Amino acid sequence: MLNWENMFAGRSSRMRASEIRELLKLLDRPDIVSFAGGIPDPALFPDDAFKAAYGEIFSGSQSATALQYSVSEGYKPLREWLAGEMAKIGIACRAENVFIVSGSQQGLDYLGKLFLSPGDTALVTFPTYLGALQAFNPYEPHYEQLTLSGNRTPESYRAGPRQAGCKPRFVYLSSDFANPTGETLTQAQRESVLDLAAELDIAVIEDAAYQSLRYDGEPIPPILALDIARNGSIEETRTIYCGSFSKTLAPGLRVGYIVANETVIRKLVLMKQAADLHSSTINQMAVFHVAERVFEDQVAKIKSVYRQRRDAMQQALEAHMPPGVHWAKPEGGMFFWVTLPTGMDTAELLAKSLETVKVAFVPGKAFFADGSGENTFRISFSCATEQVIDEGIGRLASLIVSEMSVQRRECA
Ligand code: PMP
Repeated sequence: MLNWENMFAGRSSRMRASEIRELLKLLDRPDIVSFAGGIPDPALFPDDAFKAAYGEIFSGSQSATALQYSVSEGYKPLREWLAGEMAKIGIACRAENVFIVSGSQQGLDYLGKLFLSPGDTALVTFPTYLGALQAFNPYEPHYEQLTLSGNRTPESYRAGPRQAGCKPRFVYLSSDFANPTGETLTQAQRESVLDLAAELDIAVIEDAAYQSLRYDGEPIPPILALDIARNGSIEETRTIYCGSFSKTLAPGLRVGYIVANETVIRKLVLMKQAADLHSSTINQMAVFHVAERVFEDQVAKIKSVYRQRRDAMQQALEAHMPPGVHWAKPEGGMFFWVTLPTGMDTAELLAKSLETVKVAFVPGKAFFADGSGENTFRISFSCATEQVIDEGIGRLASLIVSEMSVQRRECA
């Protein structure tokens, strides 16, 4: 047996299998009710619009372009369309500020590569999007906690990086309906993140993967919009906005985007030239055709379905969960974040749940850069009907009730 570990670079030791990816395999087991994945419902994909778009590309003169290599920045009409969309949410920019990536996940990898040297500090919320930790880990950062709850001042955020003595490079966070917590930052919190970043002179990476999926409440300007409002032009901003078509149109196409000042975009383009030359030409063209024609209707359609499922999950949690179990109703996105009493371990709970009540969820620990969060878990409502949500939450709650009584007996 060769000892590959000795041959791999040191950074590879920080690449670990994701608990979520393992769990996604369970989605295929018909006896399991899965709230584990955070994926869009395939029944809602705009397949007819894509069929028409690909058909059109192949029936006209566009097929030569579609099947050819293309520029690393991305398909210009799509970048122009996105610049128009950005303007609607307060981000005044040009196509030159928009860079197409193979899913926003690729953007996170590039940003890790662009900003992090081994031992640098990345400021992240605890918990944070697991895929971001996976993207940054190979660049060997040290993570510091960015605390967003309550009335935190920039002083309290600053405590982290100062204590560590490491050079902070960026703040990474989701401003709307975060994965995994479902939380949305208030405008004051967004402003204070900008204050902190300005004070530390670092970048802000704003993950907007779920931003279009707001079910109620008023939209809050993205951090990049607030940054532009402060500084007059996108070229003067420090915020890098990562967007995606995965949650609105379809993730299989792997089309995402980064919106930022041209200095950052030019560097990212060089990275893409080295990594994969460009994102799929034909998929970018298809996304452009579909987005231009049906984006608004598609978003309205999926929002109305997901809103009902979100409400069903809220009702099911209220109806079935015992006192001592906490969650907040998210205003959008795909997730509820549930906290059990201290001392309970949701990884153990998952093993029991799969065996007995047959409900899958994601134990919260995976989302904490420091491995804490043992008593938390994430559940997604995006792929389950209202009836399945009530049934699954009911079953999970019955297990939690019995585990809590075991815990009480042990503590007595
Ligand atoms: N950011 C967040 C917060 C996500 O939840 C996801 C997908 N799970 C991504 C980024 C990556 O999405 P994609 O690469 O499909 O655009």
